[in-house]
Amino acid sequence: MRDEFLVFGAPQIEQAEIDEVVATLKSRWIGTGPRVARFERDFAAYKAIDHDQVAAVGSGTAALHLSLIAANVGPGDEVITTAMTFCASVNAIIHAGATPVLVDIDPESRNMDPAAVVAAITPKTRAILPVHFAGYPCDMTAIMAIAKDNDLKVIEDCAHAIESEVNGHKIGTLGDFGCFSFYATKNLVTGEGGMILASNADSINRIKQLALHGLSHDAWKRFSDAGHKHYFVEECGFKYNMMDLQAALGIHQLARIESNWEKRRTIWRTYQRVFKELPIALPVDPGENFRHAYHLYIVTLNDSAPVSRDEFLSSMIERKVGIGVHYLAIPEHPYYQRAYGWKTQDYPHATRFGRSCVSLPLSTSLLNKDVEDVTSAVVEILSK
Ligand SMILES: *Cc1c(COP(=O)(O)O)cnc(C)c1O
Repeated sequence: MRDEFLVFGAPQIEQAEIDEVVATLKSRWIGTGPRVARFERDFAAYKAIDHDQVAAVGSGTAALHLSLIAANVGPGDEVITTAMTFCASVNAIIHAGATPVLVDIDPESRNMDPAAVVAAITPKTRAILPVHFAGYPCDMTAIMAIAKDNDLKVIEDCAHAIESEVNGHKIGTLGDFGCFSFYATKNLVTGEGGMILASNADSINRIKQLALHGLSHDAWKRFSDAGHKHYFVEECGFKYNMMDLQAALGIHQLARIESNWEKRRTIWRTYQRVFKELPIALPVDPGENFRHAYHLYIVTLNDSAPVSRDEFLSSMIERKVGIGVHYLAIPEHPYYQRAYGWKTQDYPHATRFGRSCVSLPLSTSLLNKDVEDVTSAVVEILSK
């Protein structure tokens, strides 16, 4: 057995990030500044879009909230999202003043089922918020067609999907807005952080203003040597800006994004090979036209498994392997049941998945020995 607990999703931090953070501290410009501007330029280049189509913000949740506002979603509007996601996707809709409407998932891709989206459209529907779950890209061809037919905005939750692609298109560039998270467990980490891509540069101008109290543009330069300039509050905004200290991490994390993706793909393939005969359902490969981001490796326990899901979780922790549950379906949570009357039985695929799923470690920081410890623990528990 391992001596040390394997922390689920521990990020890979290298010397380049440490040096950049120290250089940022020594520069004494630690808030929003030149390093955020560079991280935005680098991210735009990675996504093959213009620099004026991206905005760095303080979190993935802030990215979703600001995108919804910039899409003119507000009170009286409905936004369709998936029953299988992190609560932030739903909370952002509520914070924008709109009403979330959930749809069930396709059990194979675990993404929102486009047919269910069509069935959920009402005269109040204003937007669709697809989540590229675990890094498996949504069927964006279908979703964009539905949006076009019904005059809806599309805000993509790309928190799991930095490296995903559909038909050669980088994820986050097909909808009106693409929202990314750089939270500590994501494929690219800045501690806390997020990024918005917008198909329209005017939206990015508004988002940048809203992210910094609604101050007139480039207000972050107000303490620089460019000469004193008064700023004006143009809108009642938020405090959602990214700091240079965060961007210092992001710049170097982004430089390694593709080599890290390959490392995780190797771990993924090892799991797929070793677990083939066990009483668990393995994640499905998305096929040729889709590129998976390999963010979360999630299995579900079959009814024939010798242990329950929760027993499996405890047994993994006893063997000092940190695991995750992504996620209990949204209608399982008491707040949403109270506020929206959602019932788990109305979302059978998401509910069944959420009650049988286990996420195994898939961080780039895993050593070969860690991967062996994970596979031997899983095989041991399930071969009883
Ligand atoms: C992490 C996550 C978010 C929120 O991102 P934060 O940066 O933590 O605010 C939103 N949606 C999904 C699907 C996520 O996994």
